[in-house]
Amino acid sequence: IITAAKLPLDNSFASLPPAFYTRLMPTPLPAPYLVAVSAPAAELIGLTPDQVAASLDILIANAAPERAQPLAAVYSGHQFGVWAGQLGDGRAILFGDVATAAGPLELQWKGAGLTPYSRMGDGRAVLRSSIREFLCSEAMHALGIPTSRALSVAGSDQGVVRETIETSAVVVRMAPSFVRFGSFEHWFYRKKNDELKILADYVIDRFYPALRAADNPYAALIEEVTRRTAHMIAQWQAVGFMHGVMNTDNMSILGLTLDYGPYGFMEAFDANHICNHTDQQGRYSYANQPQIGHWNCYALAQALLPLIGEVEATQAALDVYQPEFAARMDELLHAKLGLAMLDEQFDADRALFDDLFAILPGVDFTQFFRRLSGLHAADAGGDQPLRDLFIDRPAFDAWAERYRTRLRAEHSDDAARQVAMNNVNPKYVLRNYLAQVAIEKAQNKDFSEVERLLKVLQRPYDEQPEHEQYAALPPDWASHLEVSCSS
Ligand code: AMP
Ligand code: MG
Ligand code: MG
Repeated sequence: IITAAKLPLDNSFASLPPAFYTRLMPTPLPAPYLVAVSAPAAELIGLTPDQVAASLDILIANAAPERAQPLAAVYSGHQFGVWAGQLGDGRAILFGDVATAAGPLELQWKGAGLTPYSRMGDGRAVLRSSIREFLCSEAMHALGIPTSRALSVAGSDQGVVRETIETSAVVVRMAPSFVRFGSFEHWFYRKKNDELKILADYVIDRFYPALRAADNPYAALIEEVTRRTAHMIAQWQAVGFMHGVMNTDNMSILGLTLDYGPYGFMEAFDANHICNHTDQQGRYSYANQPQIGHWNCYALAQALLPLIGEVEATQAALDVYQPEFAARMDELLHAKLGLAMLDEQFDADRALFDDLFAILPGVDFTQFFRRLSGLHAADAGGDQPLRDLFIDRPAFDAWAERYRTRLRAEHSDDAARQVAMNNVNPKYVLRNYLAQVAIEKAQNKDFSEVERLLKVLQRPYDEQPEHEQYAALPPDWASHLEVSCSS
């Protein structure tokens, strides 16, 4: 029987020179308890949820799997637009990678104690933020958005000081690689071109081998990462996901959503919504995410410039961002509205989308798109549930009439369109209040709500009549909820 202790681990990152990391062991936590396991994440590494649960000592990082080679990686980054210098895995410890059907997956403990990169931090993560990372990783995956995954959360009552005293937890998270934009910036700002090249070659050979054939593989790397980043952020926009801390040290070189902190899903629509209470300027607001994604790609490209050698090739690679983002957004919005992409409708469709976002403020983002599938192309007979979401009903009526005309232009079939739209417009997203309810129960040692919520979020596009309440608007108490960088 394979257990987590016997996972057939390798550690390709450990084959890099020692300058890239520090080998170390995690720091134990007393009296651990299991909070949750993701069954689909377990399956990825060939384990059943029971097998994962049986290895609590490993999940809490009190023991390492037999073949583990634990290490903390060094990186730097721009935080809120400002060069922050060296950061690194201050509380994450990579302990190996497992071969899976979809390629290798690295496993990390997050919250496993001090590392040489902890700076002023304590190396710990609190139960609250660990549950938030666990649930959102798995929810984003189920939404079809590229993301790191989360295998488990385990807790310990050892206290950690944040705004109040909270308790500790460790998430085991998984991704093909946790290399960040900031991993490259680190060597660039230290003028260490040899290390820069070693890292770029490692990433290309392991994750982008096809780029070896390009004239300039490093420029090709920038272009591919830029494309993936643009696509990922288009997907964020389409479901109303806000990352909250799009610093370059939180940007994955594989285009994965990484480092879940004060993220949020759009509820009452406000394009300028800021989900991170710490982000007073709104640098990472919903509306700013696309351009920040581009800015971050610039920071990465700047760091790779010594390897690329040509400013023009670098600029050309970065220039794919806007068209790739726009094209992906166009596809996603057409799909969300159940419309075919028709050349002759192109300009009119863009106006239809713009005018929709102009009337959407205040309306629940997720409920709007989900209910939109109930409209009838022929008449307003199906409008009521959607119309009820608006205060300015004449504005809605005017837009709905245009939308109907557009549907009729392609002879849209109501039933078929509804099925297609419900496959792209989630019914269930991780609203902050849903996470909060699960967190508060977990803080009282009742982990059942984490499990229930996880199961609901694993099928975000399905009608789940028994779980209708998970699609509801936030209750009044939730309007006071704030999430910050504190985690
Ligand atoms: P984040 O904003 O969570 O992506 O973290 C930014 C940097 O701070 C990373 O280098 C983290 O490893 C580090 N960090 C965050 N929280 C802690 C903590 N409690 N202890 C040590 N390092 C931390
Ligand atoms: Mg070292
Ligand atoms: Mg981070």
